[in-house]
Amino acid sequence: MENLAETFLKLDRKEIVLLKTIERGMRHCEWVPVEDLMARSRLSPKAVSGSLSRLVDKKLVFKTWEPYEGYQIGFAAYDLVALSDLVDRDVVVSLGDLLGVGKESVVYEALGRTPTVPAAEMGAAEKSEEKSEEANEAAVWLPLAVKFHRQGETSFKHVRRVRDHLTDLPRCAWIHAARLGAAKEFKTLKQLFPEVSVPRPIALSHHAVVMEHSGGTELYKLNLENPEECLEIILEEVAVVWGKGIVHADLSAYNVLVREDGEIVVIDWPQAVSWTHPQALELLERDLKNVVSHFQRKYRLDFETEDALAFVLGEAGAGESVGEGVGEKEIETGEQESGRS
Ligand code: ADP
Ligand code: MN
Repeated sequence: MENLAETFLKLDRKEIVLLKTIERGMRHCEWVPVEDLMARSRLSPKAVSGSLSRLVDKKLVFKTWEPYEGYQIGFAAYDLVALSDLVDRDVVVSLGDLLGVGKESVVYEALGRTPTVPAAEMGAAEKSEEKSEEANEAAVWLPLAVKFHRQGETSFKHVRRVRDHLTDLPRCAWIHAARLGAAKEFKTLKQLFPEVSVPRPIALSHHAVVMEHSGGTELYKLNLENPEECLEIILEEVAVVWGKGIVHADLSAYNVLVREDGEIVVIDWPQAVSWTHPQALELLERDLKNVVSHFQRKYRLDFETEDALAFVLGEAGAGESVGEGVGEKEIETGEQESGRS
C-alpha cells in the first residue's frame, strides 16, 4: 500500500481543494452533490469533473449515481485533508514512516520545528527576512507523532444501514466519532502536560492529534531489570493524573512507553474521563488492575491491585476530596469501550 506521504505528494492543488470541499459538505449530507462541489470549490466544471475522476480512480473518493450524482471520502482521504492543513500551518514539515497501527488509530512519525520566538515578541529589526531565515536554520527539528484517529471505522459500519433510517442520528458518524476522539485526546493532553509524563501536545486538525514523539518502547515488549521501580513510577504518574481529576480509562502495558533512561510516558488518552463520570473509580481500578496484573504475570511481583489503589488514592490525597473536585474539571464523558490496545 502506498504510504501517506507519497499519496499526498502526488495530489495536485485542485484535488486537495476538492477533498476539502467534499469533507465540508459531508458535515451536512452523506453524499455531497456534484453541483455543490461545482459551486463551492471555485474550480471550473471541467476541473471539478477531471479531478473527481482521478480521485475516484485513486480510491480516495467514492461516487454514487443514486438518487443523484454525489461524492464522499473515506479515512484515507480524510487523513490527507488533515495532513494538508498541518503542512499549510507549518506544523508538519515532513512526514515519515508508520509508527503504529492501533485499533482506533494510525500513527505516523513526522518532523516539525521547535517553537522559536513568536513574531510578536520580536523587535522590528529582528523581523527582517534575513533574520528569520537565520532563525529557521537554527531551529532544531522536532520529532513528532501524528495520530490519525479511527474511531467509528469498525463500530459504525455494521449498524450503518439501520442508522441511515434514523434521522436524528448524525450522518457520517465516523467523521464525528474520529473528530471527537482527537479533540478529547488533545484536550486531555493539554490538561495533563507537563505535570504528567504524557507526550507534549502540539496541534489538532480534524481527526489528527500532533504530539511530540516520545521515544521509548511499549512496556509489554520489554524485559525490565527493575520492574518494581517501573511500576512505582507508573503508579506515581497515575496518582498525579487522579489528583488532576482524570482517569485514563484504557491504561495497560500497551499504552505506557518506557525510555532507555527509565522515564515512562503514558499515551493514548481519547477515552479519559473525569471524576464526574459515574464509573470513574471503577475505571481507575480497572486501569490499575491492567498494569498490576502485567507486573504480576511477567515479573511475579507480589503486589495487588488494592495496594495500587490505596497508593494512588493516598498519594493524590484525593480520598476525601473527590467529592469536592466534582464539577470543577470538565472532560466530556463518553461511552466506555473496553479491551482496546
Ligand atoms: P491506539 O488507540 O490506536 O492504541 P495509541 O495512542 O496507543 O493509539 O498509538 C498507537 C501506537 O503508536 C502506540 O502503541 C505507539 O507505538 C505509537 N505512538 C503513539 N503516540 C506516540 C508518541 N507520542 N510517541 C511515540 N510513539 C507513539
Ligand atoms: Mn494504544
